Amino acid sequence: MASHGPLGIHLSVGQKYDDAVAEAKALGISCCQIFTHNPRGWGFAPIDEKAVKKFRDDLRKIGVDPVASHCNYLINLGTNDPEIRGKSIACLKKEFEYAAAFGCQYFVLHVGKYKEQTMDEGIGNVAAGINSAKKDMMNSKVILLLETVAGQGTEIGKDFSDLGKIFPLLDKEIQDKVGVCVDTCHIFEAGYDIRTPEKAAAVVERMDKAFGIGRVKFIHLNDAQKEFDSRVDRHQHIGRGFIGLAGFRAFLNHPAIKPLPKILETPVDEERGYPENLAAVKKLQV
Ligand SMILES: [Zn+2]
Ligand SMILES: [Zn+2]
Repeated sequence: MASHGPLGIHLSVGQKYDDAVAEAKALGISCCQIFTHNPRGWGFAPIDEKAVKKFRDDLRKIGVDPVASHCNYLINLGTNDPEIRGKSIACLKKEFEYAAAFGCQYFVLHVGKYKEQTMDEGIGNVAAGINSAKKDMMNSKVILLLETVAGQGTEIGKDFSDLGKIFPLLDKEIQDKVGVCVDTCHIFEAGYDIRTPEKAAAVVERMDKAFGIGRVKFIHLNDAQKEFDSRVDRHQHIGRGFIGLAGFRAFLNHPAIKPLPKILETPVDEERGYPENLAAVKKLQV
């Protein structure tokens, strides 16, 4: 039987690289996700290459591998709005450059919203947007991961088939450079029930049908604050939400999910922080 893949958290970094490494070490994590720039802005602060390289080397030394970068919250490749679209494509290219500079293996993307158009038009825009970053992707080792979303409003990526439709529209040179990141809270809120081993297996089968299970490279582990199929994205502590301990036990131990790297994006509040949620996950991994 394969053993469990790396486990970690979304590590907040800012410019405080040494503090982030110290936190990673204290938590004993073996992978992580970071923002390479301010997630609420379009801007990218200049990189201190030496400091960034040291940061990455330090993480590797303590066994944190892989590292994924997560997109900012503004990027929207689904839209027809020329201004947002232009900014989003420029930002996508920059995200690749920064993810590579930070030595990230993956870049996780929320593909965007279709707004006033149809879902299929939005999906076409997303694929065209990714294709326009083809050169940047081919010059980089970073793999783009399309994230499953809860489906608030006109978000693209609620149904596995939405993401599945993007792949055939990608240029063939980048077919192998794009995968999927699955977020447990998002899929649960989008109507994929994983609360028993049978249901979790059926959900994994639906992933396989929509885009191929081999495309899934990274997992976000979050419990859900809102009930099943609510389409509201609110993360909860592991086992304290509507997915519950049984749901995580079922999902984490599925043979296709088990070896994948996983990170937590759970709240840090008076109830719990990362140490308790990491411990909760480890207890469920058999
Ligand atoms: Zn995300
Ligand atoms: Zn979320």
